[in-house]
Amino acid sequence: MPKLIIANWKMNPATEGEAVELARQSDWENVVVCPPFLFLRAVGTTLKKASLGAQDLFWKNPTGAFTGEVSAAELRDLGVKYVIIGHSERRLNLGETDEMIAKKLAVTVKEGLVPVLCVSEEWPEQIKVDFSQLIVAINPERFRILIAYEPLWAISASSEEAVPDTPEHAVEVISGIRNLLTAMNYKFNVKFLYGGSVNWKNADRYLELKEVDGVLVGAASLIPDDIQKIANYAGEY
Ligand code: PEP
Repeated sequence: MPKLIIANWKMNPATEGEAVELARQSDWENVVVCPPFLFLRAVGTTLKKASLGAQDLFWKNPTGAFTGEVSAAELRDLGVKYVIIGHSERRLNLGETDEMIAKKLAVTVKEGLVPVLCVSEEWPEQIKVDFSQLIVAINPERFRILIAYEPLWAISASSEEAVPDTPEHAVEVISGIRNLLTAMNYKFNVKFLYGGSVNWKNADRYLELKEVDGVLVGAASLIPDDIQKIANYAGEY
């Protein structure tokens, strides 16, 4: 599988016009653009090469009395293929728990969307909770799951001094997650991403690693030149 770039725009930009412009400039093979829910349709219509992703979903499906929430079926209808789940900003700002994330993970794979499950340096506990129900409930071999290792301290929004994890340590953690999943009798199709302060200057250091299948990019994904350069590197592997 070619290396993937997941562009997490978070709560940016402010207007649909800006979102469409940014989408136009981020439209590269192997890029997954994850705009705010509000702009999914406009961005989806704009993208010709890149895929569409969402930043979250709710675990109830397909419809119901869940004010403010968005379902897997609704996302699929908009052409969404990937869904970021368990981002640390949702864990920290909204109190999302591993139990909630486990339900989101299950509905995502059941509905044929590809989850991008984010785990931090607390990965052993997070993976155990997030995957245990999934393994019991459905046959995970059939599904494609992406796991993004994103240490909290490396995420650029967490502090002005955030620095990326070293590629060596990221590989160590990714191997640890793989071993844990094997011990839980999970038979892959799992791919691994690194996220946290990735930019065009350092992306290559992660993308060149055989253990890393792609990168999750926040702040730099809002800068068209940066995303283009990162997408170029990704195309080389
Ligand atoms: C993120 O929040 O998922 C992220 C990777 O952010 P940044 O690239 O800005 O550190």
